[in-house]
Amino acid sequence: MKALRTFTVRPVLSPALAPLDRLATNWRWSWSRATSSLFASMDHDLWARVDENPSRLLGTIGQARLDELASDEGFIARVRAEDERLEAYLTGERWFQGLADPKPAHIAYFSPEFGVDGSLPQYSGGLGILAGDHLKSASDLGVPLTGVGLFYRAGYFRQSIGDDGWQQESYPVLDPYGLGLRQLQELDGSPVEISLELPAGRTLFARVWVADIGRVPLLLLDAETPSNSEELRRVTDRLYGGGGEHRLHQELLLGIGGVRAVRAWCRITGRPAPAVFHTNEGHAGFQGLERMSEFIARDGLSFEVALAQVRASTVFTTHTPVPAGIDRFPRTLVADYLSGGLLAGIDGTRALALGLEDYDGGDPHVFNMAVLGLHLGQHANGVSLLHGKVSRGMFGALWPGIDSDEVPITSITNGVHAPTWVHPSLKALSERGFGDALTADHDWRDRTAVSDGELWGVRMEMKQELVAEARRRLGAAASASTSAWTAKVLDPEVLTIGFARRVPTYKRLTLMLRDPERLTRLLTDPDRPVQIVIGGKSHPADDSGKTLIQQLVRFSRDPKVRERIVFLPDYDITLAKKLYPGCDVWLNTPVRPLEASGTSGMKAALNGSLNLSILDGWWDEWYDGRNGWAIPTADTAANDDERDDAEASALYDLIEHQLVPTFYEREGGIPIGWLERVRHTMTDLGRKATSDRMVRDYVTRLYTPASANDHALSADGFAGARELAAFLTRVRDAWPRVSVRAVDATAVSAQARAGDRISVRAIVDLDGLTPDDVSVQLISGAIDADGTLAGDRATSELSAAGEDDAATVFEGSLELDATGPFGYAVRVVPRHDRLVSAVELGLVAVAT
Ligand SMILES: *Cc1c(COP(=O)(O)O)cnc(C)c1O
Repeated sequence: MKALRTFTVRPVLSPALAPLDRLATNWRWSWSRATSSLFASMDHDLWARVDENPSRLLGTIGQARLDELASDEGFIARVRAEDERLEAYLTGERWFQGLADPKPAHIAYFSPEFGVDGSLPQYSGGLGILAGDHLKSASDLGVPLTGVGLFYRAGYFRQSIGDDGWQQESYPVLDPYGLGLRQLQELDGSPVEISLELPAGRTLFARVWVADIGRVPLLLLDAETPSNSEELRRVTDRLYGGGGEHRLHQELLLGIGGVRAVRAWCRITGRPAPAVFHTNEGHAGFQGLERMSEFIARDGLSFEVALAQVRASTVFTTHTPVPAGIDRFPRTLVADYLSGGLLAGIDGTRALALGLEDYDGGDPHVFNMAVLGLHLGQHANGVSLLHGKVSRGMFGALWPGIDSDEVPITSITNGVHAPTWVHPSLKALSERGFGDALTADHDWRDRTAVSDGELWGVRMEMKQELVAEARRRLGAAASASTSAWTAKVLDPEVLTIGFARRVPTYKRLTLMLRDPERLTRLLTDPDRPVQIVIGGKSHPADDSGKTLIQQLVRFSRDPKVRERIVFLPDYDITLAKKLYPGCDVWLNTPVRPLEASGTSGMKAALNGSLNLSILDGWWDEWYDGRNGWAIPTADTAANDDERDDAEASALYDLIEHQLVPTFYEREGGIPIGWLERVRHTMTDLGRKATSDRMVRDYVTRLYTPASANDHALSADGFAGARELAAFLTRVRDAWPRVSVRAVDATAVSAQARAGDRISVRAIVDLDGLTPDDVSVQLISGAIDADGTLAGDRATSELSAAGEDDAATVFEGSLELDATGPFGYAVRVVPRHDRLVSAVELGLVAVAT
């Protein structure tokens, strides 16, 4: 009989074991080798059966074993030591505490998914795992950050593969208590309940779960509460489950409910209100409207002043150049929600306008969450250098008249949390060779610290573990008649290529199948074979993705190759942690430039595997010729087929002519040339590819300026915000009549020489604006054949120098510091201390 309700009964721990409770419920265990092995040692078999989750372990282990451990002196001493280490971790000074003031008092970080651990499946792929790594690094660095998300009762799906190769989904329901989450309660012990007013008199309620990620709390809103109607309880049933209104409900809850949850959290714990709100992708964009509503209803600000205040303190990170990755809702649907009582004091029509695609090439009937994000976030970024550039082009229409390289979207390249992703054996090797487990901080080229034999030994150990895991998983999934061969799949001695990811079309899961005969030859070479381990989940509604998986699975079942190419079902954090360290090479074949960053290759690199990838995302930035191989992009191909043919053929060539010879070239059994690349990769990418570096970049480049702007605008009863809003109105009103009437310069003779200085004088019509309201810029540099300032440009400012015939004169000079074709331009832009970029208002008057 199936139980009507299920829950976990927690054991009573004796005083000596009591610290286990905190050690189990703080997710730091998931990246602390010592803490997780403490739990594993309580019962190794059970540890595996509870998906390596300590709260589940404590919930199932039984009183008898606990009593036994309570009288085990050695175990008790370890418990005490781990508890002391956790206490020191939670309270000590860290990187952030050493930064000079001013710095943000508190940052709220919103994301629709968080990938913290395999046992907490609240993520579908890279976006969520990045968010999990962001929280962990913020914790390690002591950054005062709070995560905000949703608790999906069935998380993302678990994948199995049918006999026909077709993906099948299942949705095991999660028990938050059993996972070690706690419910957020008022001081009187009653559960906190957030509410949102929906159209037609309905109300959406949510409770809040708290997960401690080291020092960082993660608040997860959950619509499964008795206060909700049956229908509204389903709002948080699944991650990316439905489309349309279901998705809109989730995003309203995440954004608006999320702000309300943060307010409750601060009220109950006494934390300061966040100075910065960061939205990881556009899904949480409604948070900005909720905060505007607070300013309007509570502080009596106008719409414009509230908008200025919210923009100043909002960071928006865009994560994809693929249109399908951006949420777009029918305008009428969103209008219905924004016009009711959901957001007190807000003019629904004006709020709606902030998200409409009301620009050249957009659809004004569509409400676009990225557009909302860019309008509400003064600080915006992409997630690699290349993606920053692509995003400036893609969203350039929001800033008409601005050259795309000036569109105010910067970039911070993603990173990964090394303590989570580096294999325990490699951490142990780091301890032996360098004195600590901080693998990403060391110079692995130092052979005196770690010998070739030791490093190759650990690499082989990690490969053997992957081979064993693959056989175990395939054996468990196979029927009795087919299971014999699964015990023989893969061979740790063979060059192993890994490839796993979500399966949207642009990631080209099946590019490697482009020439099946050639692939087969590589796999079955009698002397120097290659083997491939593959994983990947397709979105449940995406049949084309499932078809790709099916093609791969069918190919991999051919008896000719099945021991050399395997598809491992249910790619998730747990599998990923075995996969990256166990592969020699990590393959990535997206259509450039659609992979915004990608992070799996970084995780592989920190474990000493080499990347083999299209020059896209992070790889375009950090590939240096020695840390792996770049698959050339067929930019000139006439169509997609031709491009795929060319890129696949380049891929086979690289494997055959570069990877295979380097890998199989041995000295005393060790591939010396290969290991040299491994050492270089671990050292070079260790410095760059970590989420510690990424979070430090966010703090110094985005959070700190945002917090400073927030403070400057809100001080003295929002005097700064009012002044800024008034400035914006004044400048926008006047701008159509601002112009450069004339520019005179000292005549430059045809023989201008490097080092000559010319003076420049511009006569500008300001139409009532003052010279202080604007900046008159002199922009100079090399020009191309049609006279465009094409390369690096220098910008200097002309200074006001009196009036001339009701216009203002600005003067300055320019040194000709470059040789060759050279030119300059003059333009007027608004000037205000609280603008991040001179062109962020989209107002520019250029001298013609
Ligand atoms: C890192 C990771 C991803 C994202 O990898 P990409 O390189 O961005 O495709 C997806 N799923 C899992 C389980 C991961 O660990």
